[in-house]
Amino acid sequence: MSKDCILCGKCLEVCPLLRATGREELSPRAKADLVRLLDGDGGELREANVARLASLCLGCKRCRAVCSQDVDVPGLVAMLRAAHPDFKQWLWKTWLSHAGTLWSAGSTAAGLIPERFRPEKFGPMLKMLAGLKGGPGLTPFLSPQKFPDTSRGEKMLLFAGCTATHVQGRWLMAALRLLDGLGIEVLPGDFGCCGASLEAGGCLDEAKAMAKHNLAVWRAAGRPKVAVFCASCRAGLLGYSDCRDEEECLLWRKSILPLSEVVKNTEFMIFDNAPEKLGYHHPCHAGDGDPDFGFLSAVLGERLAAPSGRECCGFGGLLRLAAPEVAEDVNRRCWDALTGPEVIVTGCSACVAQLAATAPEGTAVGHWLELIG
Ligand code: SF4
Ligand code: SF4
Repeated sequence: MSKDCILCGKCLEVCPLLRATGREELSPRAKADLVRLLDGDGGELREANVARLASLCLGCKRCRAVCSQDVDVPGLVAMLRAAHPDFKQWLWKTWLSHAGTLWSAGSTAAGLIPERFRPEKFGPMLKMLAGLKGGPGLTPFLSPQKFPDTSRGEKMLLFAGCTATHVQGRWLMAALRLLDGLGIEVLPGDFGCCGASLEAGGCLDEAKAMAKHNLAVWRAAGRPKVAVFCASCRAGLLGYSDCRDEEECLLWRKSILPLSEVVKNTEFMIFDNAPEKLGYHHPCHAGDGDPDFGFLSAVLGERLAAPSGRECCGFGGLLRLAAPEVAEDVNRRCWDALTGPEVIVTGCSACVAQLAATAPEGTAVGHWLELIG
């Protein structure tokens, strides 16, 4: 990881925090500068200020993608968070490390709190928790009619991610049905969390342990392809660096496939209950050539509205806990770009949670897998 920021300012154009707040001190450049200061004597910086600044990042990695010096600002922020742990980080770590026991129960408990009793500050957070289990979800209107033979007989692992494994079983079932239709044998593999959110929150040891576990699962299965249907999980998996050697790292990265890529030549029938227009939210972690958008465009044609911008949803893990008002500023811009269609789909579990919790009245949000009946 390079720390050699040349202060060129290229990252200023893409940072959702800076775009939403106009506060230069939240920019990637300012964070890189902060790290440089701390590498020296730390100047006048107090511990609490460092911890506060380190918590103000969405971990979207947009800055890294445009940086000519390969400065990994979210990686540096994660290291700062690791060096300055606080209660919010502990909460985040506990929430992610015990997803199996906490998510379903937490979602049920949050759903029991009447809206009028939800403190205003935590309203969106509680709504997001309550919505984790997903309510009725989107009404399916796509039915696979003809599967290509190109993958028939192949063996693959499926990385479902924490949300589908613990609270959104219908995504997992839809993915399994698609893979079955393609004639792909899904190998057993007990993957854990991808670790990306843990890393972004500064829980570096826990993130490393998850990566180690997932790589071991992949090796035990004979290092096959791995289908993934969450953009953030995919980015997390692609970021693993603890393979045995460079050759294995290359093979690992090559084996990680978006599910939408695996199913892309399937023919679907569109039922009459399909909405006239659907909106699409580009997850930050999907990168430039978002494969889910390409797949959905091919299936839905003009029904899928061209996005009017690629705004971040404002989830960003710790930011929701550390500075909900800043997360809301980012989220507002996202809805300004999405407003129009009454159904919004995306391919990232964190974006679904965030957008479903903040959607305007009458707008439904879901993973694209929910469209498939
Ligand atoms: S982090 Fe990279 S893009 Fe941003 S100011 Fe520094 S060198 Fe430029
Ligand atoms: S990771 Fe995203 S939110 Fe954080 S500094 Fe970079 S662009 Fe801004």
